[in-house]
Amino acid sequence: MATQRITLIGAGQTAAQALETLYRRGHTGPVTLVGDEPLLPYQRPPLSKKFLAGTLERDRLLIRHATHYADHGVDLRLGFAVVNIDRTRRRVEIADGSSVEYDRLLLATGSHPRLLPLPGADLAGVYYLRSVADVDRLRAELLPRRRAVIVGGGYIGLEVAATCREAGLDVTVLEAADRVMNRVVSPAVSAFYEAEHARRGVHIMCGARVDSLVPGKGRVAAVRLEDGHDLPADFVLVAIGVAPTDALARAVGLECDNGILVDEFCRTSDPHIWAAGDCARHPSIHYGTRVRLESVDNAFEQGTSAALNMLGIATVHDKVPWFWSDQFDLKMVIVGLSAAHDEVVLRGDPASRAFSVCYLRDGELIAVETINHTKDQMAARKLIPARARPDLAKLADPELSLKDCL
Ligand code: NAP
Repeated sequence: MATQRITLIGAGQTAAQALETLYRRGHTGPVTLVGDEPLLPYQRPPLSKKFLAGTLERDRLLIRHATHYADHGVDLRLGFAVVNIDRTRRRVEIADGSSVEYDRLLLATGSHPRLLPLPGADLAGVYYLRSVADVDRLRAELLPRRRAVIVGGGYIGLEVAATCREAGLDVTVLEAADRVMNRVVSPAVSAFYEAEHARRGVHIMCGARVDSLVPGKGRVAAVRLEDGHDLPADFVLVAIGVAPTDALARAVGLECDNGILVDEFCRTSDPHIWAAGDCARHPSIHYGTRVRLESVDNAFEQGTSAALNMLGIATVHDKVPWFWSDQFDLKMVIVGLSAAHDEVVLRGDPASRAFSVCYLRDGELIAVETINHTKDQMAARKLIPARARPDLAKLADPELSLKDCL
């Protein structure tokens, strides 16, 4: 296995982690890394925070420097997309006209922003945030007192709102649902974040239905709501979620359904092809359901599992995921998946700005949201995989540590 020809498509965190794993486990065969961005693999989390704010240098985003890839003899094909996978010949065809043959292939194609399907969405001054190039364009707009309107009150929308506000901009967030981050956190945490943003001058409008973006002087000038109200805007950021980048996989006949379907070994419906990261939908053994996770932790863990399996080291991928978001001085870490909960317990007082929310199903702890609460977060990362069954009355007592609630 150590000499197999391995190709990785998508030069992000997942592929970078797969690459590290291959070399750590003694792979000596040829490796090709193909990515459509002209950059070496870099970390995306700082893009909406320190890199946007200009306090983190571009070089610090890189997961590894060029010399690392050169030292390992990685064949880097950056700046061109893969246009086809010939599964019979096991050959990847790249937009620059070149191709590469593989024995084992990893699809780590990630996800891409959902586009706003409304009139005016293609005007100058309308941005999305996914790549370094996106941030380079957006950063030029971050001047004090400019009016930013952000469509979408999820992770990206709120993180960028915090960054813009700290840079002195006038910020409005339009969220279609009745509360921010509704897809990922409890109502208590949404309410807490809405209050924290409001306290710092971010104007959040929930239940806001955007009708169109209005032009003026050749670029966006306002966001029109369905009730006819116009919100003046110097620029607009659209952050309404992402979709898995699985078009290539679908085109070549791999099984897909909201992402590329993989088994517990990260293998697709083709035995020579694996998939991992945002683009892959895998069976979570812990939660007994299929999930597609959009997080760096998953890129890291699934990239590792996929690489091990590609090397023939059978590794069941079964991790309890975690997610984080930094907004202002608030550190939120979510451990686990709360979707199927039947009980919610608040630990501590949100007014103290350090609290957590526990989710249970049939008495088992399945997820914990922590805000500025490292102790609960660390405990949750042990207790959830261990299927802990805490005592509900004890759980509600913030004086007791999570571990002592069993
Ligand atoms: P997101 O977290 O899914 O949030 C998008 C938000 O926009 C949702 O609240 C959504 O509401 C709302 N929305 C959808 N359509 C809308 C519309 N037409 N008008 C107004 N609001 C609308 O996605 P994101 O913030 O764009 O982030 C993109 C990806 O980056 C996600 O995968 C995210 O997990 C990842 N990311 C992660 C982190 C982190 O872990 N810290 C940070 C940044 C980004 P509904 O749910 O009701 O559709």
